Amino acid sequence: MDRGFFQGKRVLIMGLGRFGGGLDSALFAAKAGAEVCVTDLADETELADSFRKLKDCDIRFRLGEHREDDFKQAQILIVNPAVPPDNQYIQMTRKAGGLITSQMELFFQLCPAHIIGITGANGKSTTTSLTAHLLKSGCGQEGVGYDNVFLGGNIGHQPLLDSVDDIKENDIVVLEISNFQLEQLARIQASPDIALITNLTANHLDRHGIFEAYCRAKEGIFQYQNPDAEAPVVSIFNAEDPITHDWHQKYSNDPQRKCLTFNADDVPDEYAAVFGLPGRVNRSNLAAALAIVSCFSINQKRIKAAIQSFEGLPNRCELIAETNGVRWYDDSKATTPASTIAALNALETKRGQTPFIVLIAGGYDKQISFAELGICIAHRAKAAVLIGQTAPKIVEAIKAIDDSDCVIKYADSMEQAVQVARKLTTSGDAVLMSPACASYDMFKNYTQRSAAFIQAVKAL
Ligand code: ADP
Repeated sequence: MDRGFFQGKRVLIMGLGRFGGGLDSALFAAKAGAEVCVTDLADETELADSFRKLKDCDIRFRLGEHREDDFKQAQILIVNPAVPPDNQYIQMTRKAGGLITSQMELFFQLCPAHIIGITGANGKSTTTSLTAHLLKSGCGQEGVGYDNVFLGGNIGHQPLLDSVDDIKENDIVVLEISNFQLEQLARIQASPDIALITNLTANHLDRHGIFEAYCRAKEGIFQYQNPDAEAPVVSIFNAEDPITHDWHQKYSNDPQRKCLTFNADDVPDEYAAVFGLPGRVNRSNLAAALAIVSCFSINQKRIKAAIQSFEGLPNRCELIAETNGVRWYDDSKATTPASTIAALNALETKRGQTPFIVLIAGGYDKQISFAELGICIAHRAKAAVLIGQTAPKIVEAIKAIDDSDCVIKYADSMEQAVQVARKLTTSGDAVLMSPACASYDMFKNYTQRSAAFIQAVKAL
């Protein structure tokens, strides 16, 4: 497939998306000479940011609704990963003989460079950007085996398809791939040349129903790795995670792929000493990135300098303010109980024997169990301020722990949560906004949730 394939075709983009997932596909298709229509159930105001970036292009919009005719007439339907594959409108295009595809599928079909793909339940974005950062340190080094490094995928607003023409055969691409994108790639039986899974814990059960189905989607990152590819196919597993450990056993029987594992304890001391991100989970992310980097011959001095200069990503245990001796951390990106547990464990938790974290948590209900989170909060936090849909469930999980003296409060808004949290703190304490849930019940997305938190903290 090449760009010419799109020339003059009726292309329908399903789901512009608030993160602009459809934006990249729309720009790509319009530049490739297609007759592009963008449709989304959300309206122009809700999609304002993405809409503004497209309004000068020759594109038709059908926002605030879907129309059957658009789907029946589409020759190519580019589906946003947030749309479930059994969606009735997708079926309409399929029945009418249209091609169903997605941004990720098209990228895999068009990208001339080797692709490194990273998936997992937690730590994907950190590991992906850290990997790209370390690999970039090798650019220009003789014999390293590549020219430029591109970063993209499920990691914010980076264009992917729209920049595919800039990518050359001798470059490498590092992609964060979500499980929904993996489901789409399974349709064309594609997996990255180097594939890594950070870990696997329950997530997105509202859509996958059962954990097994979720794992099946994740396993797609290894399933279609092509052993006939020019470069050796590499599969990388977390040795500390029981499921991915089993996958390692299974795949290492395959003589045509190189299987590697990583473990947080693998990180050499001289690297750990200069790494700025807190907690064992981030050491695990570093071990993962180093496993990928070991496939290339980058000079160790360059690697060490890159580890030292890596600053982490915003909204992940990010220290945003320190007032009256209280440190305020924004971990808005923690949308699963496992991430919040990781954050609670990563911050220093003891002053003498007293836990001193005040946690702000709660949000949209993805039907994940809060039992383990309840245990962690009960033992690690001195207080919890709960917001959003899941607040009662989290409270129930904390109260299930008999010996807990964690103070529990409810709040109706982020602003109120911050005010309540402040009253619960004394100098030396930390307030951690790490919701363990998605934000959609109260906010447009996790960045808006973060902005609300930062604004409320500043107002104190
Ligand atoms: P993802 O892209 O998978 O959502 P991120 O790298 O954006 O992961 O990190 C989100 C949050 O998850 C972080 O704030 C941190 O609390 C937690 N986290 C990071 N790495 C890990 C890991 N390896 N295991 C568990 N939790 C993690």
